[in-house]
Amino acid sequence: VLNGDAVVVWIERAAAVIVENEKYLTELDAAIGDSDHGANMARGFSAVRGKLAGQPREDVGAILKTVGMTLLSTVGGASGPLYGTLFLEAAKIAAGKAELDRTAIQQSLAAGLAGIQKRGKAEPLDKTMVDALGPAIQAFEGAAGVTLAEALARAAEAARQGAEATIPLVARKGRASYLGERSAGHQDPGATSMWLLVRSLAEAAA
Ligand code: ADP
Ligand code: MG
Ligand code: MG
Repeated sequence: VLNGDAVVVWIERAAAVIVENEKYLTELDAAIGDSDHGANMARGFSAVRGKLAGQPREDVGAILKTVGMTLLSTVGGASGPLYGTLFLEAAKIAAGKAELDRTAIQQSLAAGLAGIQKRGKAEPLDKTMVDALGPAIQAFEGAAGVTLAEALARAAEAARQGAEATIPLVARKGRASYLGERSAGHQDPGATSMWLLVRSLAEAAA
């Protein structure tokens, strides 16, 4: 299970890794977007870090709601509302829960993905963050008979592969879609930040 302390560890790891990779995410966005994904994400997760310092740990839903609201108001761009939605939808599943068992984790991730797709209308292989989160959830669901830590490690590996698999794709959503065929040959920045987020979750559960 993941309790409030573990969820805070997850988000703090995610914030650290996003800030460490700010330049990398910006370079990816420079190739097919407007060079701000690293700055957007680093600003948002730094703000989240500050908010979590004084956050009570007994309600996982309340923690995830704080994360979602903060990302929504600080990340900006196309990715801000989408990452905000991911955490706000997960927060609804986690509302009032002191810990998330495997089923609740799976439902939270699935609700987050559904929220992203409802808001952004991206389908798999549109070259977006969906291409990292979708495979991660599939891998997590498929990892029966292994520990939670191992199931999340498999999800993180699937997210990494999903992000890498965006390289040959032509973008059909977001700013990169303005480039048409010229968006092929570059890894999607949002799929890459999503991989970092899922990897942080796996590390927090290990
Ligand atoms: P902006 O494109 O507004 O500058 P960012 O650079 O922060 O915003 O984020 C870009 C990322 O957002 C893309 O790499 C992609 O993964 C994601 N994205 C953009 N539009 C969508 C969408 N409609 N659905 C899902 N993800 C999207
Ligand atoms: Mg951008
Ligand atoms: Mg922008």
